[in-house]
Amino acid sequence: MNPKLSRRDLLVQTAALGVVAVAGANGCGKDRPAALSCSDTSALSAPEMTVRTVLAYVDTSAEPGKNCSNCQQFLPAAPDTCGACKVLKGPVSPKGYCKSFVARPA
Ligand code: SF4
Repeated sequence: MNPKLSRRDLLVQTAALGVVAVAGANGCGKDRPAALSCSDTSALSAPEMTVRTVLAYVDTSAEPGKNCSNCQQFLPAAPDTCGACKVLKGPVSPKGYCKSFVARPA
């Protein structure tokens, strides 16, 4: 430790190290998992795709409190993976939504 370092300098440098540590821990979003995408409909037939489109399925619900994970029709899979739905075919996000939403009983 530098004997000429004042108490104030020490506090300033310690605070700066804290900022660097927090910034380093947050990174640039590289360690954050990518948003779950359940939009691969390449295996669906045209009629199945039509149902999905007519029901306006989206991966991210815009309806507060309404999403696939709390819908009666949702068939969950492993955590952080796409599930399925009893009404429409194809991958379904737990955060998704469509016009056939039916709230799961409490
Ligand atoms: Fe999601 Fe709609 Fe299926 Fe309910 S019916 S699980 S809201 S896609």
